[in-house]
Amino acid sequence: MPERIYNFSPGPATLPVEVLEEAARDIVNFKNKGIGLIELSHRSKEFMAVAEETETLIRQLLAVPENYKVLFLQGGASSQFFMIPMNLLGNGKKATYLNTGVWSKKAIKEAENFGDITVAYSSADVSFNRVPQENEYNVTPGSEYLYLVSNNTIYGTQFASFPEKETMLVCDMSSDILSRPLDIAKFGIIFAGAQKNMGPAGVTVVIIRDDLLDRVADNVPTMLKYKTHADKSSMFNTPPTFAIYCVGRVMNWLKAQGGVAAMQKINEKKASQIYQVIDSGDFYRGHAEKASRSMMNIAFNLPTSELEAKFISEAAAVGLDGLKGHRSIGGCRASIYNAFPAEGVDKLVDFMTGFAADNS
Ligand SMILES: *Cc1c(COP(=O)(O)O)cnc(C)c1O
Repeated sequence: MPERIYNFSPGPATLPVEVLEEAARDIVNFKNKGIGLIELSHRSKEFMAVAEETETLIRQLLAVPENYKVLFLQGGASSQFFMIPMNLLGNGKKATYLNTGVWSKKAIKEAENFGDITVAYSSADVSFNRVPQENEYNVTPGSEYLYLVSNNTIYGTQFASFPEKETMLVCDMSSDILSRPLDIAKFGIIFAGAQKNMGPAGVTVVIIRDDLLDRVADNVPTMLKYKTHADKSSMFNTPPTFAIYCVGRVMNWLKAQGGVAAMQKINEKKASQIYQVIDSGDFYRGHAEKASRSMMNIAFNLPTSELEAKFISEAAAVGLDGLKGHRSIGGCRASIYNAFPAEGVDKLVDFMTGFAADNS
């Protein structure tokens, strides 16, 4: 096998190599049982144990309280954009949304089909380079929930802390779940597509407070009710078995790293190394305002788009892959989720320093 490259892709993203190796073995011969992991019935005792272990590890790592369910759903994080308002709104019910980029805009569009939505804050006029402070917006009275995206994958912005408003929070944590400790009790629903910080594409993890399960209207399709999946421990229909298995192995790896508090320190160190290079001169310009900077995705520009193209191709040539920014803002972006190795950050920092010196 050739040497692994450093993959800065925003998602699907890099995974711990030991997880990939274990998965490769288990796909062919699961725990030496003479049957491949992805051939197992989802109702077999072997797979039920896999699903249970995955859930238990998520509960331990995030300290999920007893009165919350952990669900493994399909349809990507994007299906949560409509599932949430379909289950929680309807009939003139209100919700407040914060618009911090593409992923919240899409969620707002879907929610408007099911309720009375207020967009209490938007950073659209500053190309989503920031998230709001607590005093910059109000929650519309009577809102069922306040919706936010904790980390804006495209722009590299992140809420450093969560709103302290009275209203229950609903949060898209697709790109920073398990990167830092959380007080789950503030949230009604947390969801995350696995392919950024938890595993491969194919499963969406939903953490939902159990009193919300009964709010849903009768006419919502069975598959789109959280209650359906909660009542059957995510086995109402065939769940994405391989993705659930991989998430479990990644959780096991994360536990061995010391859990989310230890991971937060590692993440802060990795991100600060890159921000230091950005701040050390005027060659690189960070996209995000400093107070809104993400630990997971670092979006930056070079003096010209020609230099950005040169940077991306020269970086790829030395094994630093996936540094092209999202098409909506251009430039460069380094995605450095939990599993992104510290050595890859060191290598990027050296490369950035050298590139600036050679091209200033
Ligand atoms: C990637 C991403 C999504 C979309 O996820 P899908 O699983 O592709 O639907 C939603 N929200 C955020 C914050 C993301 O980063």
